Amino acid sequence: MSAKVRVRFAPSPTGPLHIGGVRTALYNYLFAKKHQGDFLLRIEDTDQNRFVEGAEQYIIDALNWCGIPYDEGPGKEGDCGPYRQSERAYLYREYADKLIASGDAYYAFDTAEELDAHRKDHEEKGKTFIYNWHNRLKLNNSLSLSSEEIKAKLDANEAYVIRFKSPEAEILPLEDEIRGKMEIDTSILDDKVLFKSDGLPTYHLANIVDDHLMGITHVIRGEEWLPSLALHVLLYRAFGWEAPKFSHLPLILKPQGKGKLSKRDGDKMGFPVFPLEWKDPKTGEISSGYREENYLPAAMINMLSFLGWNPGTEQEFFNLEELIAAFDISRVHKSGAKFDPEKTKWFQQHY
Ligand code: GLU
Repeated sequence: MSAKVRVRFAPSPTGPLHIGGVRTALYNYLFAKKHQGDFLLRIEDTDQNRFVEGAEQYIIDALNWCGIPYDEGPGKEGDCGPYRQSERAYLYREYADKLIASGDAYYAFDTAEELDAHRKDHEEKGKTFIYNWHNRLKLNNSLSLSSEEIKAKLDANEAYVIRFKSPEAEILPLEDEIRGKMEIDTSILDDKVLFKSDGLPTYHLANIVDDHLMGITHVIRGEEWLPSLALHVLLYRAFGWEAPKFSHLPLILKPQGKGKLSKRDGDKMGFPVFPLEWKDPKTGEISSGYREENYLPAAMINMLSFLGWNPGTEQEFFNLEELIAAFDISRVHKSGAKFDPEKTKWFQQHY
């Protein structure tokens, strides 16, 4: 690897950090330290509707308790200052404008009522409405309007969003360090919103701009973001930037049955899925964490390291230093990892 490795953990403060999030942070940390790189923490808080009071502090406290220190980020004086997207909000608009100027993005003036009517209309015909190349010229946006009409709307301060203009028909190659090569037909993509009418960017725009500006070389994140990979690769291309390497980690599944492990599964098992106690600011409901249940961070970290990865040796107990030495992203599994509370108890007994 030539450039200095820089990775980031980029949680949205929408609630307490779940052990799935801790595992993402851990794998980023191990990867960075294995390659003498930097591990950044970036709080992605541009979606004000999903903001939860106390979640950011919880994330910072949880990482501290787990012993996964970040090199730059909120709460620390780093070269680049604190990374909190709400504090960087001023810079994203410039990038949305660049895409408008290059023809890769456009203003969309559709109101919520208009979009609902399109959805209904499609539903009645048994179809799903998608804001894509097929529909966009029939909709209320700057691709379907004359330049005078666009100017009039902007002068009248009509509300708009900025959407990405997905390519109509192209087989786009994609690559993931864990899953290998894939491809996607871009004609199935919808034109995602990049900039919202509230003056803030969406996750997609802010995430790509920040990863580029922060010199992120490797993006290691949960599998739920795999469907966004095509858009992200297209955004890098539209900006003329080199894309980082991507790795999408397998889901953490319920101990029995199918599906992603949730807080409710933790309640059912009587076993925490959070590192620290969390008090829901709305309901006042308290969920206990590993710390309150007297689990050692080392036992939890050891258990999480094996949840979707194996060292390819017989060794079962690792301290953090040993994990850094052994960690290899290409040994991360493709399929979901079943969570097993017994395994955590077992690690705990051996520490
Ligand atoms: N803010 C996203 C999240 O909450 C980050 C996804 C990414 O790492 O790109 O998971």
